[in-house]
Order: sequence, then C-alpha cells, then structure tokens
Amino acid sequence: MLLLECPYCGVKAEETELTAGGEAHLKRFGPGSTPEEFEGYMFARTNPKGVHFERWRHTYGCGKWFLAARHTNTLEVFGTYPAQTTEPPAHVRDAISAKHPGWSWRNFK
Ligand SMILES: [Zn+2]
Repeated sequence: MLLLECPYCGVKAEETELTAGGEAHLKRFGPGSTPEEFEGYMFARTNPKGVHFERWRHTYGCGKWFLAARHTNTLEVFGTYPAQTTEPPAHVRDAISAKHPGWSWRNFK
C-alpha cells in the first residue's frame, strides 16, 4: 500500500484517496520549440525502476496537486512537496541520497 502525506493538509492518504498525475518536473516547450522538443514534452516519459518524481492530487481530501519522490520498486516515499516547486527540496534530496549514495538531482535530470 502506498501512503503519501499531502504537504498542504498534512493528511497521510492512501493511494485510493489520490489521483496519479504522471511524471513530475517535466520541462515544458511552447511556441518556438522544435517538433522534436514538443513531441518529447507531450509523449516521452521515464519509467524507472528506482527513484521517481511524480505528480499526485489529493482528490478525496483538499483537492490540491503535489509532488512526491518515491522508489518505484520498494514504494519507499522520500518526501512530498508542493506542486509549484521547480525541483525537489533539500530534505527530499537528502533523504534519497541517504538511501542511495551517489544519487544526485543533477545526474537525475
Ligand atoms: Zn491535502
């Protein structure tokens, strides 16, 4: 069972109370981008066995979108944070690095 803590209302919600929104931290491409950049933004997604950043909505709670860092194989959650955040906060990056020495946000993106 996947439990994620909503960073807005503080509720620890199980997966059935949430809606998955796909990969987080996508770089958007708009007017002036190449067709390949736009295609990548629209369709290319990672599907790692390991650390992953995802968008979730607290659908049956406060209704807000947030981001979560978790391990896709073990379901270990490293942290959740507001959706307006452009990169994982330091406490989330530190939690990932503690479990996965050598992991870094710079190498991830
Ligand atoms: Zn909430």
